[in-house]
Amino acid sequence: MPLTELIIDGFKSFAEKTKIKFDTGITGIVGPNGSGKSNITEAIRWVMGESSAKSLRGSNMKDVIFAGSEFRQPANHAEVSLIFNNKKHELNFKEDQVVITRRILRSGDNEYLINKKSVRQRDVRALFLDSGISQDSLAIISQGRVDQILNSRPEERRSLFEEAAGVLHFKRQKEEAKVQLEQTTDNLVRINDLVKELE
Ligand code: ATP
Repeated sequence: MPLTELIIDGFKSFAEKTKIKFDTGITGIVGPNGSGKSNITEAIRWVMGESSAKSLRGSNMKDVIFAGSEFRQPANHAEVSLIFNNKKHELNFKEDQVVITRRILRSGDNEYLINKKSVRQRDVRALFLDSGISQDSLAIISQGRVDQILNSRPEERRSLFEEAAGVLHFKRQKEEAKVQLEQTTDNLVRINDLVKELE
């Protein structure tokens, strides 16, 4: 499932629509300090469903929108798309190309699209969890992440292995099912009480 292209528009320092093509093999991105290298990996994590503004070095999610400069007006929105080659259909879509887009407006409205169709954040996250490259996986290692992993608690480290082994997705589904089961049990108790009152 190769990532073939990244399109960044109005995200952080990328005021202008910028297309980055990824060839086969290793792609290196070089540039002076502060030129936007980390912003590129943050753009990728953002589309994949990152919900913590702090981990994107901001205090509010709207901080990802280009804030303006001496020569340019601030942007009204930020939009990032990841384009995957899906010829081998590793992603569960019939199309040979899958485009995942996230957009945020100054009003705070946020939306996700898969192949131009509006989807929920959990759909995007599930898609990446299934493929083992979710935004908090080892597929993306940011500055300081190696130290963070080495210093993490055993249970935090365990979840990294679970993700690599592909079981994290099922674990999350199990947790969701447990919550639903508890709610259903509560509802049943309430219904039984009502039935008893009516008898
Ligand atoms: P280093 O090599 O020092 O790690 P880098 O190339 O990774 O640097 P980044 O950290 O990606 O650079 O980019 C930082 C730049 O992005 C700063 O100049 C900062 O002002 C700019 N920036 C961050 N958020 C925004 C925003 N919302 N609007 C405009 N510019 C932004």
